[in-house]
Amino acid sequence: MTPTDTNHGPLVDAKAQLAEAVAHLGCEAGVHRMLATSRREMAVSVPLRRDDGSTAVYEGFRVQHNFSRGPAKGGLRFSTAVDLDEVRALAMWMTWKCALVNLPYGGAKGGVAIEPRDHSQAELERVTRRYTSEILPIIGPEIDIPAPDVGTDEQTMAWIMDTYSASVGHTVPGVVTGKPISLGGSLGRATATSRGVAHIALMAMSLRGIDPEGATAAIQGFGKVGRGAARFLADAGVRVQAISDVDGAVWSDEGLDVQRLGAHADETGSVADFDGAEQIDPASLVTLDVDVLVPAAVEGVITAANADRVRASIIVEGANGPTTAGADAILAETDVLIVPDILANAGGVIVSYFEWAQANQAYQWTERQVKDRLEERLTRAWHDVVEYSGVHHMSYRQAATALAVRRVIEAHELRGLYP
Ligand code: GLU
Repeated sequence: MTPTDTNHGPLVDAKAQLAEAVAHLGCEAGVHRMLATSRREMAVSVPLRRDDGSTAVYEGFRVQHNFSRGPAKGGLRFSTAVDLDEVRALAMWMTWKCALVNLPYGGAKGGVAIEPRDHSQAELERVTRRYTSEILPIIGPEIDIPAPDVGTDEQTMAWIMDTYSASVGHTVPGVVTGKPISLGGSLGRATATSRGVAHIALMAMSLRGIDPEGATAAIQGFGKVGRGAARFLADAGVRVQAISDVDGAVWSDEGLDVQRLGAHADETGSVADFDGAEQIDPASLVTLDVDVLVPAAVEGVITAANADRVRASIIVEGANGPTTAGADAILAETDVLIVPDILANAGGVIVSYFEWAQANQAYQWTERQVKDRLEERLTRAWHDVVEYSGVHHMSYRQAATALAVRRVIEAHELRGLYP
């Protein structure tokens, strides 16, 4: 069968991955239907008084996919691409991600369909607070705990925490993770996702017999995930040859000076026009001839339309859902090793869990403890996936999803169906 472009959006892909796992695990049709459906969804409209006095209205969502293993957990995204189906898919992936790395959480995701770059800080604060107050009845440290995602950051989390705390009448640090350190954020949270991506990339390279010293990488995205991943990989000796962001892409044969590129991006807002490199077409980044490709931006970038031109030997999914089901089918016929998002980028939610545990204990861990425990959990999940994939002759994505879905089903069955 020649796969056509199956880029119907992330929810179709997420449901197809679930169906495959269920077929492999052999669970009851009703349980499959439960897992394919969000437990709770909230759609809100978020009116904003703009700085010029006019009023704008944005759509906002919070989707809680599953609670079987604990409170729902997942990021909040500010992007014009946000819609209910995208948030549903991202929430489902959070359930699998948390289960795969053995966190006592279900999955959730939130989003507001807004372009943060078109708004002042004051406007973003008002949007965040209003969105928070709209979803307030369904969040809380034991219910659903938001965190940063595309377009949001630790400042956003501080506003959410403050709005929630003001409403309940006392400070509740455990209502969000990814907070600033001075408000109870965890040491190591800001770099957790990217540290995890690099850690996983290095394990995948070692499995493939690739020496990081002198190996090459291309990274799509220079935000919270891509930027740190570039730095950690460069620190390990990898030549990071290409990096892109929404405004452009740069390439250098001998490897980009990631630190200088970071300074350039801070100054100009983009990696584009960096003088230490050649400008390339951002769309060509995923097809560059490198050892490791790290898509670290958004979903649906490796598709049936470009998968046959991917030349990397390892893809480490820093973003959620960057490879469509159509691309997966094409790449399954090659020897490209894909480390799926729910494993590759799980470092963020692992340290979110550490932050939540620290908030609930009111006791701060050292950075060393955070790093060691992060690497330990990721390494364990990596070995689980590699082993399961070997035993059952399946891709890492299929193995990771099957392991995660199995854990969620087990929790569901132990709890039973109420009433
Ligand atoms: N947004 C991140 C993710 O997709 C982190 C979620 C969290 O820490 O709750 O995994």
